[in-house]
Amino acid sequence: MTVCEALGPGSSLVADFLSRSHNLLIGGAWTPAQSGEVIETIDPATGRLLGRAAAGGAADIDRAVAAARTALENPRWADAAPAFRAKLMWRLADLIEANADQLALLESLDNGMPLRMARFACIGAAENLRYNAGWAGKIGGDTAMLSVPGHHAYTQREAIGVAGLIVPWNFPFGMAVAKIAAAIAAGCTVVLKPAEQTPLTAVRLGELILEAGFPEGTINIVTGYGPIAGQALVDHPGVDKIAFTGSTVVGKAIAAACARSLKRITLELGGKSPVIIFPDADIEAAVIGAANGVFYNAGQVCVAGSRLFVHKKVFDQLVEGVVARATALKVGSGQVPDTEVGPLISQKQLDRVQGYIETGRREGGRIVTGGNRIGDEGYFMQPTVVTDTRPDMTLVREEIFGPVVCAMPFDDDMDAVARHANDTIYGLAASIWTRDISVAHKLARKIKAGTVRINGGTGLDANLPFGGFKQSGWGRENGRVGVEAYTEIKSVSVAL
Ligand code: NAP
Ligand code: MG
Repeated sequence: MTVCEALGPGSSLVADFLSRSHNLLIGGAWTPAQSGEVIETIDPATGRLLGRAAAGGAADIDRAVAAARTALENPRWADAAPAFRAKLMWRLADLIEANADQLALLESLDNGMPLRMARFACIGAAENLRYNAGWAGKIGGDTAMLSVPGHHAYTQREAIGVAGLIVPWNFPFGMAVAKIAAAIAAGCTVVLKPAEQTPLTAVRLGELILEAGFPEGTINIVTGYGPIAGQALVDHPGVDKIAFTGSTVVGKAIAAACARSLKRITLELGGKSPVIIFPDADIEAAVIGAANGVFYNAGQVCVAGSRLFVHKKVFDQLVEGVVARATALKVGSGQVPDTEVGPLISQKQLDRVQGYIETGRREGGRIVTGGNRIGDEGYFMQPTVVTDTRPDMTLVREEIFGPVVCAMPFDDDMDAVARHANDTIYGLAASIWTRDISVAHKLARKIKAGTVRINGGTGLDANLPFGGFKQSGWGRENGRVGVEAYTEIKSVSVAL
């Protein structure tokens, strides 16, 4: 019995989708990779073959960029009212919502995440489109009073051009849609390169994009491997901007490659985010927040709160609570209704996480709970809590991207805890738990991170700029600045 048969008649559309081998969306039509090569994507809950998508190469990227360029210059797009783009975006949002069950099942199968979570992400993606659709007609400029009299001068924002969008596997659908939404709102045309591990929802998105009626070539989707299709997109002279989410290592390589042509670039990279808990916090809420913050999506989250700093007065209580939560979490297949944590994405990621735990043990860390793989099918990992860690340990310094948290006590010195929290190459997010608003805001100022959450405040919203300090990235996504990141400013001055 296939997984879809097991899920009943509602999933027949997904079963049909999985039985087909998928092509590339270029210029409004589905076309195989020129090489004929195919990616086999697996179900991380079983390690078994799930579906097939074309493995696009440089020649396919070339065609996709040409299609995006043609679409960009087509008066149907270039001269259209912003409301035209907004209308298409709303249509796509409605289609995503109408197909949310199937999209969620595909995402859960391909990535491993719990179905409920995948569905939530689909609805979030639809909302993101609607939010960004609102910006399409609100992108403007300023009039400038010049120091020389007799002039009329103004600025305007123009679409940057063709944008290459490269996304990872941890939230494949949501990230692809969020990037497309901001780019299209600004008037760009795009080529999307999804992660090799999770191509399926991007392909389904392509089908919905056609159904929504986007003009051909405005959104192109090339599934393929990073070092081949991704690299070709980054190096392509016809691409004006790259927006990348993924690892810091690849982000740096992309920045270096883009420097050669001074291509515009935004980067959302890794993190090692601190969670700081004071003794006056709502401890029960803090325990849940800390546990969810690192175990959500099996820790495969760029903002994962993987370093836990707890005031010594409540350290034992807090760690006990997180350990209790870690052992209670239901780890299993994403399609089982009460699953809270799914598998890791791949054998490679499982090996990587286990390698980190081994290193942590060797360096003197104490594994209070977890530390092992679960079962021998699929890539399941126990939620893991480590104490007795020191700031110089590998486990504390490097992004693990798995369900592993290092807990460390601190005393009353706020400067010291801020120093420890900032003792990382990353600066993506931080979270603070205290009832003392003065402590919370003082610390928020000291923390070097793009997003600071206080008492569980949400860090991700279409209207909240998101991105990293230091080696966690360049630029911001979401909010007004997220759309502006797909524009160039032009100054125009007239002698009167
Ligand atoms: P990755 O290699 O950085 O992959 C991210 C995206 O970049 C994928 O679409 C990938 O394609 C593509 N890519 C890879 N090499 C490329 C190149 N030379 N030129 C252009 N594109 C390229 O990340 P990963 O290997 O999947 O994950 C490794 C680590 O990255 C994780 O353990 C985690 O630490 C971090 N990560 C961070 C985030 C985040 O949101 N900050 C997200 C995911 C992963 P392919 O997948 O097809 O090779
Ligand atoms: Mg897969």
